[in-house]
Amino acid sequence: MAQDDKLKKVIGHAKEYGFVFPSSEIYDGLSAAYDYGQLGVELKNNIKNYWWTAMVKMHENIVGLDASIFMHPTTWKASGHVDAFNDPLIDNKDSKKRYRADVLIEEHVGKIEAKIMKDVTKAKKRFGDAFDEKQFRETNPNVLRRQTQIDDINARFKTAMDNEDLAGVKQLIEDLEIADPETGSRNWTDVRQFNLMFKTELGAVSGDSGVIYLRPETAQGIFVNFLNVQKTGRMKIPFGIAQIGKAFRNEIIARQFIFRMREFEQMEMQFFIKPGTQGEWYDYWKNQRIKWHQKLGIGEDFYRFHDHIKLAHYADAACDIEFNFPMGFKELEGIHSRTDFDLKSHEEHSGKKLQYFDPEENKNYVPYVIETSIGLDRMFLAVLSSSFNEEKLEDGNERTVLNIPPALAPVKAAVLPLVKKDGLPEKAREILRDLQFDFNCQYDEKDAIGRRYRRQDAIGTPYCITVDHDTLEDNMVTIRERDGMTQDRVAIADVHKIIAERVSLRKLLGE
Ligand code: ATP
Repeated sequence: MAQDDKLKKVIGHAKEYGFVFPSSEIYDGLSAAYDYGQLGVELKNNIKNYWWTAMVKMHENIVGLDASIFMHPTTWKASGHVDAFNDPLIDNKDSKKRYRADVLIEEHVGKIEAKIMKDVTKAKKRFGDAFDEKQFRETNPNVLRRQTQIDDINARFKTAMDNEDLAGVKQLIEDLEIADPETGSRNWTDVRQFNLMFKTELGAVSGDSGVIYLRPETAQGIFVNFLNVQKTGRMKIPFGIAQIGKAFRNEIIARQFIFRMREFEQMEMQFFIKPGTQGEWYDYWKNQRIKWHQKLGIGEDFYRFHDHIKLAHYADAACDIEFNFPMGFKELEGIHSRTDFDLKSHEEHSGKKLQYFDPEENKNYVPYVIETSIGLDRMFLAVLSSSFNEEKLEDGNERTVLNIPPALAPVKAAVLPLVKKDGLPEKAREILRDLQFDFNCQYDEKDAIGRRYRRQDAIGTPYCITVDHDTLEDNMVTIRERDGMTQDRVAIADVHKIIAERVSLRKLLGE
């Protein structure tokens, strides 16, 4: 399936089955804002729970927080967002379309990378088992030439951005002959900086003194509470504070469904460490986070690391975990070594000490920080898009199925009486009542059983429990599994235990 087609299908499916709706749709929607429907909210909650369990419950030294969205405006001065949370934007004079200059350049580099990958794949095919990718990349003249091009572009871009040389960024776009992706025009305006924070006013005060911002990241709520949590929780370094919450960015272009929204949700964890240990903790968290993703079983090929070439003002090392979305590999999560930038800057701006007394060293210091930051909505899109499949079955029929990892599936089990009479619905409801306290379940008695299975496949329900006439005699039911469509006859008394085992986070995280 072509990638564009796939994204369109996923968006259509998400709407048709109640996962994601455009915001305020009766008024024709609002750009880059979406609502999560009855199944979307379940999937979202399950993803949050998977993250919270892995990060907070399974780590003795990580605790949670729920800070407010509004913060004292000086917070954003201290964090650097007022002065530096900008994206370089550029307009095309012919098409009147607006783009992020950095994204245009990244996409250009992406095209060169794709050519390298094409060469690698071709060579792999030709040489078979004997193929040594590292050696090929280091010696093949085509690959070397392209890699030099990429390195040159990246270096020029970094220098221009570091020197705030926006004319240099425009020159780079012109030199690379980058055209408007939609129209092919190369008639560009100058590059300008655009601040991404949403401003509003607090209470009745208007004018500059009352200006506050919607938080553009959840992290600062953690930094300003660092001492509150450390002291009241008697936390010892190293320790972490985790938070799930909304963030707001006035994105220049917000396309690609829930990948880039102006209101979105983040799951962030700041890990406070002794200065000088950031290298090892950065590696530790890179490793932990990629494992968390891979445990879902979506497939290792879906993920890759991407090191940042232009580091944010607060970072001494940073990388992304990229996911192979229908639009290609894009950032899903960031892992940043934030040094002591934030805490130090809050000390300076607030005049309050934000230091830790280390009993082992017998001295005070401002801790360093490693941050892991993942977008909940991007994770939702990763799960939804990778699990969306259209299958041709052996009997010639087709089905659309969401192969969502069972622990994340919005509905864990559907209880289905084979017919709507003879006491089967009553028996089915008895089973439902036993399950629904622990699992989100559905009851469905309408239409032929095959059609009901298809409906459950389409929303990703991993187990269907069918009650038939024999059930009344032998107290056994059929459990039909979504992916393999296998059917097992099991005792009603075992159903709860079977479902519990198969959908458990313990199984996923313990493995
Ligand atoms: P991008 O380069 O895609 O704009 P970023 O590097 O600015 O992202 P971070 O500031 O590192 O993103 O934010 C951490 C995470 O928050 C990202 O990895 C992403 O999953 C999520 N995120 C950031 N911006 C958005 C957005 N506009 N919509 C949805 N999720 C977002």
